[in-house]
Amino acid sequence: MSHLDTRAKLAILADAAKYDASCASSGTVKRSSAGGKGIGSTEGSGICHSYAPDGRCISLLKILLTNSCIFDCHYCINRKSSNVRRARFTVDEVVKLTLSFYKRNYIEGLFLSSGIIGTSSYTMEQLVRVAKELRTVHDFRGYIHLKTIPDADPALIEQAGLYADRLSINVELPTETGLNKLAPEKSAGRIRTAMRELKAGIDDNRDARAKYRSAPRFAPAGQSTQMIVGADAATDSDVVASAAALYGKFGLRRVYYSAFSPIPDASAVLPLVRPPLMREHRLYQADWLVRFYGFAASEVQDATDDGMLPLDIDPKTAWALKHRDDFPVDINRAPREMLLRIPGMGVRTVNSVLRARRQRRLRLDDLGRLTRSIERLRPFVVAADWRPLALAESAVIRRTLVKPERAQLELF
Ligand code: SF4
Repeated sequence: MSHLDTRAKLAILADAAKYDASCASSGTVKRSSAGGKGIGSTEGSGICHSYAPDGRCISLLKILLTNSCIFDCHYCINRKSSNVRRARFTVDEVVKLTLSFYKRNYIEGLFLSSGIIGTSSYTMEQLVRVAKELRTVHDFRGYIHLKTIPDADPALIEQAGLYADRLSINVELPTETGLNKLAPEKSAGRIRTAMRELKAGIDDNRDARAKYRSAPRFAPAGQSTQMIVGADAATDSDVVASAAALYGKFGLRRVYYSAFSPIPDASAVLPLVRPPLMREHRLYQADWLVRFYGFAASEVQDATDDGMLPLDIDPKTAWALKHRDDFPVDINRAPREMLLRIPGMGVRTVNSVLRARRQRRLRLDDLGRLTRSIERLRPFVVAADWRPLALAESAVIRRTLVKPERAQLELF
């Protein structure tokens, strides 16, 4: 590894980190240095995010400790056999960078991951040292997300939870078959064991803090994971099932979906083209349906065609078109869980409808004022002055809902 200055390392290691989608900082405890003590804050202004060319929102200081790795996962640009330029930060460099970016108000915190160098435990120890130094030496109160390495000594992961807000362990691929094929050195069993242990630590800490407020916090923003989509043959149905199992078994705060990006000198086992970004978007919508709209994973799977969510309409609309018998829904009488199933009605709109209908019977215009597009809702609702004349065919509704793609006109 040639000698590089910090700026050159930052260019390499921030670029190498952009493939990790799990960077949101929501859900942690509020800490602030507004009273003049400490540095940083997990809330308020001064947060600078940037967008990668592929459209993902990334934190400015989202870096790898190193992009060297002893593993050879096919889908990863940092794998052992890749000929990318390598770099490695020292613990001290990451600490200094974090503090200086924070003081300049560039970032809301640190997202730190790493390729595996030496051993999993050695790498994890380096990551923990960064978080520990920030918290204990510099009284850093900003957000810290550490990527953890499943094979590392559990004692290190326990320490990581004392300093980081969120810990994450990537499941990498939706199915064990995919993992065995594309990351043969990783083990689905070990990944799940590490997630289970992390969940136990988080649960124990919750109990301890319920009894003793002074008990130290452990990963207060919980654990998350990331799944690469489109690198193997897994369908959306597989992805939805896998995510539901992860939420159910390990109490994850988030599952992030990352559309596979083709990499230079890619292995022959990988697809040549990336999946449409819309696929990633539809999976996030499906995830939302399960977490906030009361859909079972099997119902979302029911909205797929041959296992794949349609790209031209959102999963909730796809489900509604396959269940025309459940519609139209009377917005003045239906229970909350049924209102949440109406395409085009979000949680906030449903809450507004529930409040408003206590005062009077709602008309279509009233609904129009509470939503962004009444056109999308018409076929699915009954209001005081509105009932769809006949149950239109799903195909007809679908045609009216899908807007034709705009194309640049040819001038010559
Ligand atoms: S272990 Fe992580 S960094 Fe190393 S090759 Fe696999 S995915 Fe890439």
